[in-house]
Amino acid sequence: MACRRSAVRTCSAPLFGVGEITFSVSALADLVEVVVPFMDEHLPPSHKREQYLVWREELLAYWETKAKRRRVCTVDGCDHPQRAKQVCRRHYYEAYGQ
Ligand SMILES: [Zn+2]
Repeated sequence: MACRRSAVRTCSAPLFGVGEITFSVSALADLVEVVVPFMDEHLPPSHKREQYLVWREELLAYWETKAKRRRVCTVDGCDHPQRAKQVCRRHYYEAYGQ
């Protein structure tokens, strides 16, 4: 599976024997929440399904490890993880006191 991060994410799956089909979705979440349940239900047992299952495993691993990573602080130049109110712990205390 190949995924690119951009305004519109695209992921390709080697499903139908004649190359790849490409999903263009506005959010990776759509792949996980819409496409995967659809394919689980409608793709019959076949070589294509075996290929799909490999693709799904890679997609879900990507979803769990990289796509859902914590957002970073919104203060310019700070790359610490957000804690509350879209800023890191240090910037939260600077802005909102102890
Ligand atoms: Zn910060």
